Amino acid sequence: MSADDILFDSGDHRNILLEDFASGGTAVQANQHLIIHHGAGMILDPGGHKVYNRVLSATMDHLRGGNLRYLFLSHQDPDIVAAANGWLMTTDADAYCSTLWLRFIPHFGIDRLVEKRLIGIPDEGMVLDLAGCRLLIIPAHFLHSPGNFHVYDPISKILYSGDLGASIGPEIREVVDFDAHIPFMAGFHRRYMSGNRALRIWASLARQLDIETIAPQHGAVFRGKPMVERFISWCEGLEVGVDVMPAYGLPH
Ligand code: FE
Repeated sequence: MSADDILFDSGDHRNILLEDFASGGTAVQANQHLIIHHGAGMILDPGGHKVYNRVLSATMDHLRGGNLRYLFLSHQDPDIVAAANGWLMTTDADAYCSTLWLRFIPHFGIDRLVEKRLIGIPDEGMVLDLAGCRLLIIPAHFLHSPGNFHVYDPISKILYSGDLGASIGPEIREVVDFDAHIPFMAGFHRRYMSGNRALRIWASLARQLDIETIAPQHGAVFRGKPMVERFISWCEGLEVGVDVMPAYGLPH
């Protein structure tokens, strides 16, 4: 039986959090999200080789004969990008990532036949049209990658936040108690996020959106406006990265 979570379903428009294929072993747990609008699909941060076959077949099952139109790569990390070549070779989808990473991602092994379908997102973001649904590709630079984007879906009102909001450890798919959840996010954000200024810029963009759900790439999702607001204000006040980095000495 499938353990996929349907985050939103209006018939013509579906948002699916795929079954967790990566858990176990040393690889970090990672979520793969799928947006389908009128039979056209976008897979977000599809992951690496360990999950490629299963994520691809789950994606095709959900598309029910529809077309995968886009691969969205929030940033350049291996748990997001490593299997991009397989996706480009076996589907007709175009892959979108920050222009900063266009010349680095081919080192994961992008075949010459498909490299033109790896397309850069400019720093200011863009709109991607998925069969008439206008998905906002929102700048979230330095959270954590220097070239980093989130996706806002105006139909489901889900903000896909990549590594922002990631939690490591608890085996839950939805946050029920925000305060109890903080310890599972704090260490990751403190070390992987760059600094408070990036978080405040992001919070001011997020507050301009009508968000029902924030869905990160690792760990549990935040559902409902009160939980979304708690998360945004937690981020806004957080000191991370260069804000809290100690002045290291030389190693002994
Ligand atoms: Fe990352």
